[in-house]
Amino acid sequence: MTAYLFEPTAPSTIPVFGSDKLFPVNRIFCVGRNYEAHAAEMGTVIDREAPFYFTKSPTTLIMAEGEIAYAPRTDNYHYEMELVFALNSGGTNITEADALSHIFGAAAGIDMTRRDMQNKAKETRRPWDTSKDVEQSAVVTPLRQMAEVPSLGTGRIHLEQNGETKQDADLSQMVWSVPEIIADLSTMYTLQQGDLIYMGTPAGVGAVQRGDVLTGGVDGIADFTVKIA
Ligand code: MN
Repeated sequence: MTAYLFEPTAPSTIPVFGSDKLFPVNRIFCVGRNYEAHAAEMGTVIDREAPFYFTKSPTTLIMAEGEIAYAPRTDNYHYEMELVFALNSGGTNITEADALSHIFGAAAGIDMTRRDMQNKAKETRRPWDTSKDVEQSAVVTPLRQMAEVPSLGTGRIHLEQNGETKQDADLSQMVWSVPEIIADLSTMYTLQQGDLIYMGTPAGVGAVQRGDVLTGGVDGIADFTVKIA
C-alpha cells in the first residue's frame, strides 16, 4: 500500500444557508464581460456569439465576511461584484432546458482582480492567470439553496465602497443567462458537482484601498460586508 507523502490540502468549502452541510468546491469558472456597460467601461464590445471564460483555483476562495487581504504585486486591486452559482451535478452538452436542474444554489461574490497586471497582460497578449487567480480573490457568501432562490435571471445586484454605491444593476442585464452559460461551458468541459461559476460583473468596477469596507449582495440570495486588510 502506498501513502501520500504529506496530507493533501483539504477542499475549499462554502457554508449553506439553513444547513449544517458544507459545499465542497471542485473548480471555479468565471465569465468575462457579461454586462454591456462593463464591457464598454473596459473599452471593448461584446461578441454576443462567443462568451469567454477564465478560471480561479479553488484555493483562492474566501468567505465574504471579516477581512480579506489586499493582494501583493498590485497597486490597482479591483472589486467585481458578481452572481455566483454552484452545481450539484454535471455532464457534457447540457441543454438550456436541463441547465437549472444541475444547480445546487447561488451566492453573491466578488471577483477580485489585479487590474494593472491584467491590463499589462492584455497589452502584451499574455494570459490573465496571475491577474485573476489570486489568493483570497474568489470572495463568496454562503450558498442559498435553489428552492429558496427567487430568480437567477432578474434581481438587483449591487456593491458599495465605504457606503457609496459603486455597482447597481439587475441580473436581467446579463448578456448570457445562467442556462446559456451552463450549456456553453458543458460543450468544453464535463461539468461536475462542486463546480462554481462566477457570472461576470456589471459596470462600476474600481480599485480598493486597505481599510475599505465593501458591502453588497444579490437580492433574495445573499448580502455581505467585508473589510480590505
Ligand atoms: Mn469578473
